Amino acid sequence: MPKQIYLDNAATTAVLPAVVEAMLPYFTELYGNPSSLYSIGVDAKAAITDARVRIAAHLNADESEIYFTGSGTEADNWALKATMEAYQGKGRHLITTAIEHHAISHTAEWLEKNGFAVTYLPVDSDGLVDPADLLSAIRDDTTLVSVILANNEIGTIQPIAELAAIAHEHGVLFHTDAVQALAHIPIDVEASGIDMLSASAHKFHGPKGVGLLYIKKGIKTRSFLHGGAQERKRRASTENVPGIIGMATALDLCMARLDKRANEALLLRDRLIDRVLDEVPYSRLNGHRQLRLPNNANFSFEFVEGESLLLSLEQKGILASSGSACASGTLDPSHVLLAIGLPHEIAHGSLRLTVGEATSIEDIDYTVESIKSVVSQLRSMSPLYEDFLQGKKPISAIR
Ligand SMILES: *Cc1c(COP(=O)(O)O)cnc(C)c1O
Repeated sequence: MPKQIYLDNAATTAVLPAVVEAMLPYFTELYGNPSSLYSIGVDAKAAITDARVRIAAHLNADESEIYFTGSGTEADNWALKATMEAYQGKGRHLITTAIEHHAISHTAEWLEKNGFAVTYLPVDSDGLVDPADLLSAIRDDTTLVSVILANNEIGTIQPIAELAAIAHEHGVLFHTDAVQALAHIPIDVEASGIDMLSASAHKFHGPKGVGLLYIKKGIKTRSFLHGGAQERKRRASTENVPGIIGMATALDLCMARLDKRANEALLLRDRLIDRVLDEVPYSRLNGHRQLRLPNNANFSFEFVEGESLLLSLEQKGILASSGSACASGTLDPSHVLLAIGLPHEIAHGSLRLTVGEATSIEDIDYTVESIKSVVSQLRSMSPLYEDFLQGKKPISAIR
């Protein structure tokens, strides 16, 4: 068995040992219910408050604007459903994009089935939303715009501040799914004019099953879970104390080294991108070359099926993803790759590699060599490639 090279950090990340250590006492010693009045409860409550203050500071938000949730998915569902409901007196129109994570896109589809109207903004071939498209999509009954900050498949980073400003000029609220972005690139909710923001701990070396929704003060929203008075009565449930402590600790650790981590990831990512594009014929990079997450590379290889590529790479110890983890398992091509204009057969042949702190230059070079050999091996078995070599099939969408 070769050594494992984990290049799927967009799917989830390893919990840092220091994060586990910070969480442990809240399972075994300070296990009290934060709503209880004896000391182990009071101490747990104080730890949550402290975590909220620290997390708020990293976003340039106020602690009263941070609501803990059970996941990024829950934060996205809450942002869309509760806000659309709370403002339905003004209108029932939501604007989002064609390249959202399913936590947003499937929620938007649910809203459509329940009497709301949704506009899905297109993106260009790099995956960027055109602010002019947002402007022309805004109607009198538009209440909310939701745009993913950094795409989970192709890594493209949107001009969030510009989009939020357009929404605000028309009295429309602005939400962003920042699950891939937080702790990877700087975010300032105040400077960017963000009204609501979703994030999730397991995408930045925290535990799974805990996330947050930032809701700017003064925004009318509805309670998402009804029950006790937790999270200012808006999201009932006994708090996931270890998870919240883990999320705050992970964010502290990541933000303390934000620039250093990003620069390290960039070097590896760019080496990967440059070598693959130079050395693998008929390959293309999906997503914007510059405006992309520092850890993300997403390629398409003509005449190669994504699932076969993944399986062959896995045999060489390389763990990656084709499109999104949520979409793999189905044979549908990625909606994100279709939205940037790739034809179906190429959208099927994509490979997402996301580097992390544990990735080395040797890992990248080994990965490039493995991709080269696997792609040429798969192509040698492809009748389409055979036809292409004999001049019978034109090349479709590659560079
Ligand atoms: C992972 C992810 C989510 C879902 O977060 P979970 O905590 O896994 O539910 C939502 N949006 C984006 C962009 C993601 O990458």
